Amino acid sequence: MTVPAPPESDDDVARFLTELGVPGIVDVHVHFLPEPVLRKVWAYFDQARTHYGLDWPIQYRTPEPERVATLGGLGVQAFAPLVYPHKPGMARWLTEWVAGFAAATPGAVPTATLYPEPDVADYLGAAVEAGARAVKVHVQVGKFDPRDPLLRPAWGLLADAGVPVVVHCGHGPIPGAHTGLDVFGAVVAEHPRLRVVLAHAGMPDYLDALDLVHRFEGVYLDTTMVGTAFSQKFAPLPADWPARLVEVAERVVFGSDFPNIPYPYAEQVATVAEWALADDRLGAGFLRSALHRTPARLLGV
Ligand SMILES: [Zn+2]
Repeated sequence: MTVPAPPESDDDVARFLTELGVPGIVDVHVHFLPEPVLRKVWAYFDQARTHYGLDWPIQYRTPEPERVATLGGLGVQAFAPLVYPHKPGMARWLTEWVAGFAAATPGAVPTATLYPEPDVADYLGAAVEAGARAVKVHVQVGKFDPRDPLLRPAWGLLADAGVPVVVHCGHGPIPGAHTGLDVFGAVVAEHPRLRVVLAHAGMPDYLDALDLVHRFEGVYLDTTMVGTAFSQKFAPLPADWPARLVEVAERVVFGSDFPNIPYPYAEQVATVAEWALADDRLGAGFLRSALHRTPARLLGV
């Protein structure tokens, strides 16, 4: 089967999915947050020129119910609403908040987050017990070392439960004290059964991320912001990226960073479709896997 023409706008995504023959997108990387936290995140992006050296106009700055409806209109069938703390004592609260959000929101799967603190196994274990299907870890924003011994029981319980960790551990868009694929690679080496989704495909160290995927069978890449015109300006993909995905095609999952993206959602879908078009060995099969089948399996939807 041929790859349908990539969507030209958000209104065109539904047509693309129908032609591809998938019931919808399963997006492993979406953000919903308590209102006061979200307002701070958006205020931070408003100062992106100071923080990142470039403008970052948030595309979907709308009230929460409208954002949920926007995802539905885009053909997103299920999504992981991801939350993450920037300081201790916050992960439990965010994890409890997102459980409530997921319970009340069609399509949202329950998630959790963590921070190196004495009670991490306690609240994370409770969240997994209650059905959390993904855990967000943000090494740069959290400013913690993922090898912190306080996190050992957390990684262990997630490996045992088979709950994937969506981890932002790359140096992009800005490096942190403990970012780097080598740092998180040490966690994976210690917990080789851990299911890991490398957010942003390890941006900008895409090849190091691919290397981890090759070395550990539980490691996946998400497409979040990868290859969009915006990201290509500061973290360009290797020219042979589609060819490099062939061997790991079943371990690529769609992610978007909705709503905090500086371009329409359709651009991410179109970017992934362009990879499929660039190499016949990817094609429509890769797209159906990355947009739907593999993330659906990973999140248990
Ligand atoms: Zn994100």
